[in-house]
Amino acid sequence: QPGGAAPYLEGLNPAQRLAVETMDGPVLMLAGAGTGKTRALTARIVHLMRTGRARPNEILAVTFTNKAAREMKERIGRMLGEAVEGLPWLGTFHAICVKLLRRHAELVGLKSNFTILDTDDQIRLLKQLVAAENIDDKRWPARMLAGIIDDWKNRALTPDKVPTADASAYDGKGVKLYAAYQLRLRELNAVDFGDLLLHMVTIFQTRDDVLDQYRRWFRYILVDEYQDTNAAQYLWLRLLAGGHKNICCVGDDDQSIYGWRGAEVGNILRFEKDFEGAEVIRLEQNYRSTPHILAAASGLITANKGRLGKTLWTEEQEGERVRLIGHWDGDEEARWVGEEIEAAQRGTRGMAPVGLDSMAILVRASHQMRAFEDRFLTIGLPYRVIGGPRFYERLEIRDAMAYFRLAVSPDDDLAFERIVNTPKRGLGNKAVQTIQRAARSNGVNLVEGARIVVQTKLLGGKGLKELTVLVEALDRWHGQVVSESDTHVELAEMILDESGYTGMWQNDKTPEAPGRLENLKELVKALEAFDSLQGFLEHVALIMDHAQDDAGEKVSIMTLHAAKGLEFPMVFLPGWEDGLFPSQRSMDESGLRGLEEERRLAYVGITRAEAVCTISFAANRRVYGQWQSQLPSRFIDELPEAHVEVLTPPGLYGGTYGAAGMSSQASPAIAEAQGSRLHDNAAKADVYNSPGWKRLQARGQARQMRQPAEAKNITIDMTAVSSFTAGDRVFHQKFGYGEVMGVEGDKLDIAFDKAGQKKVVARFIVAADA
Ligand code: ATP
Ligand code: MG
Repeated sequence: QPGGAAPYLEGLNPAQRLAVETMDGPVLMLAGAGTGKTRALTARIVHLMRTGRARPNEILAVTFTNKAAREMKERIGRMLGEAVEGLPWLGTFHAICVKLLRRHAELVGLKSNFTILDTDDQIRLLKQLVAAENIDDKRWPARMLAGIIDDWKNRALTPDKVPTADASAYDGKGVKLYAAYQLRLRELNAVDFGDLLLHMVTIFQTRDDVLDQYRRWFRYILVDEYQDTNAAQYLWLRLLAGGHKNICCVGDDDQSIYGWRGAEVGNILRFEKDFEGAEVIRLEQNYRSTPHILAAASGLITANKGRLGKTLWTEEQEGERVRLIGHWDGDEEARWVGEEIEAAQRGTRGMAPVGLDSMAILVRASHQMRAFEDRFLTIGLPYRVIGGPRFYERLEIRDAMAYFRLAVSPDDDLAFERIVNTPKRGLGNKAVQTIQRAARSNGVNLVEGARIVVQTKLLGGKGLKELTVLVEALDRWHGQVVSESDTHVELAEMILDESGYTGMWQNDKTPEAPGRLENLKELVKALEAFDSLQGFLEHVALIMDHAQDDAGEKVSIMTLHAAKGLEFPMVFLPGWEDGLFPSQRSMDESGLRGLEEERRLAYVGITRAEAVCTISFAANRRVYGQWQSQLPSRFIDELPEAHVEVLTPPGLYGGTYGAAGMSSQASPAIAEAQGSRLHDNAAKADVYNSPGWKRLQARGQARQMRQPAEAKNITIDMTAVSSFTAGDRVFHQKFGYGEVMGVEGDKLDIAFDKAGQKKVVARFIVAADA
């Protein structure tokens, strides 16, 4: 262009410009994190419009998330400067396919006003079909079938195309049920999520006229995060781009992290074969991170086999090394991160103050968020959770809390309504109406209403039996709250157990179920910091209220999966421990597939950071209600030493514990991280025998901690570590002073001076002279 480049081209490097200006034919930008792939893709869209090569509606751009689509739209708006008529088709595969399918619904036997079923509807429908086949729902849960069908749909397989190798699926009836399910959906004028793509692929495959129309229409196709497309998405793209081949895909094989959901990294590696004569552009300059951060991430990912491999460099100043810190436990980790954030906000270590919007905490599993959310709420640090509800807003947490509320206050009718048929007790809408009528006409709460229904047998059959059991249980739990016969933590566990609520998720075969169970455990863990259920419920009610407003700067908390494509000046990566990250499942798996995907996830995590990247791990975590010692993640071993700085945790050597003479070998995990002998058992044994460790243990007891077992993942035998015996004088926060009468596992039978005789868990007890 005469008179210099357009503003949106300025600053792009030659490789990026090539990607922007090669408008015809297939283009692949295959490059590492932070090299400006997304930026170049965005500039390309603007360039197509600005040069008059394409009208906005002739451009189809696909992003991985709705959030990414929104951001790209904003950027395009800014780059264009002035208003343009219309915007490109820009959205996720699903969002674009809904629009297309509405226009052509009749081609797959639907009406244009079809409904999109959510997972619950989908399961309900499948259950009916499974029941009609006389299949044992216990052995073959409908949710399992839902997973199998989703997988087929991800692979673009309609019932007639499912390969014979899959014929044994779901007790040999999978394919038949899949066909029946598709038929039923059609009768209901409905689709599920997977259908959105599948139907469009079917239409494109069977109707040349429609396909040709869209090939003419979408003259330029652009795809971000191409490494995470599944087979159906891939087919859809190939069909659409098959004519003109004006397709530009960008991605990074090292950032393929959705294999578990059917994504196939092979799609990006095959691009040159699929689209002959493709211009393959490699970007090597990273504009996001400092050299240490880049080198740490690059070093880590070299442990993966079968990657393309790439060189990344940056002009950035050297900056800080990746910081590594070990903590005593998860709470300590959350406390430390909170302090670091507040310090950064004020400006520390010669750095200018950092705004909260510039900081993010990226976790491997969503249950890790709880400790951070609790801590931040306590210290009043504003945060937002991206890509999911906040901990206390989650479905399973709200359900569990409803049970607790009802145990504390039987008058809580809202809580009653929430749990009366969760888990399913055959107490549907009609039963609830009967209970409500009984309550209203007698002027009592719903629990009492339910009691009347039971006594006067206003319901029949299974419902009546189940309601009787529920009312009895509610009475019992409420009685226990009043009498304080058990600790509130034990009571909470009991309620979740006896109500069948935990069991409901244990029997659930959906991919979300394990996460929900983790969250429930996390909830029980959170209870320990309070002295009663009531106190805890008040805390949550207050913090939830307090957390409503959404204005202002906030720290972001999200999973690593949700962080793809994003960047932050300051990133915290907590919980780098074997079994958590990499996940236990990936470690148990035979072969390296799962582990390599975890490593790519670690690579995604580190490369989100621009200036400060802090990795942390805890030596102890409560898992399944027991303290476990944790080993630092194997990924920590793989970080190139020259780019890592090991920090000393103040919680262990300063503040909380007092500095006096504490050996630097106090925590095995930290000693390991500091020394070169990571994962060395002899080194660990030295540590456990050191005076510093023993002293820490003694103090830890007063802090109601437990000595971790020597080897990884060994559950601690509470009897072995309970140092109390009959006759000891002890102190309990709530019940005051007392004398141990007997020891039973991790429980102590104590005669309290004022509160009488009670059984309490040993970890709530300290020696009276401590
Ligand atoms: P990821 O693989 O993580 O998705 P990416 O390759 O898509 O990364 P971008 O997000 O496009 O990278 O760019 C990373 C950062 O570098 C952004 O802040 C972007 O604005 C900046 N950037 C990209 N290209 C240039 C350039 N030529 N000059 C200056 N900054 C650039
Ligand atoms: Mg990107």
